[in-house]
Amino acid sequence: MKESSYHPDQKRREVVRLLRGHAITPTAQRIKIATALLARPQHLSAEQVLILTNATGKPVSKATIYNTLRLFTRHGLIQELTVDSGRAFYDSSTHSHAHLYNPETQELTDMPDGQLEISLPDTLPHGTEIDRMEVIVYLRPVNKQ
Ligand SMILES: [Zn+2]
Repeated sequence: MKESSYHPDQKRREVVRLLRGHAITPTAQRIKIATALLARPQHLSAEQVLILTNATGKPVSKATIYNTLRLFTRHGLIQELTVDSGRAFYDSSTHSHAHLYNPETQELTDMPDGQLEISLPDTLPHGTEIDRMEVIVYLRPVNKQ
C-alpha cells in the first residue's frame, strides 16, 4: 500500500479490502494495526508496531499486537524476518527481496533490487522444491585506523 493523503474513510476501506483479500476478518483492532504497519514500506519490531498503533485512539494490548502480527504473517499480508537469532521484524513488503541489517543501529533495510546474484543448485533433494529464500546481509562499521 502506498503512502498517501487519502481521506481516512478511503484508507480504512482500502485496509479492509486488503485484509479480506488475505482471508483475514477485519476487526477494529486488526484494521488499526494494519493501518499503522502498512502505511509505507517499513520494517518494524513488535514493540514499534505497538507504539505506532497506539499513537492514536483506543489502545491495543501487547498480546493482541503479537497475535495479530502472527496472524498477518500466516496469511501472507506481511513477512516476518528474524535477525540476530531472535529479533523479529515485520516487513510490510512481501515480494521477494534481500535485506541489509546493521546490528549496531538495529536497522533493517531493503537491498536495492538487482544488486544480489545467487546461483541456486540445479538439483534439490528428491521430492522438494524451493518454497522461499531469505537473504540478510549483516553489516559492521569499518575499522578506521
Ligand atoms: Zn524488506
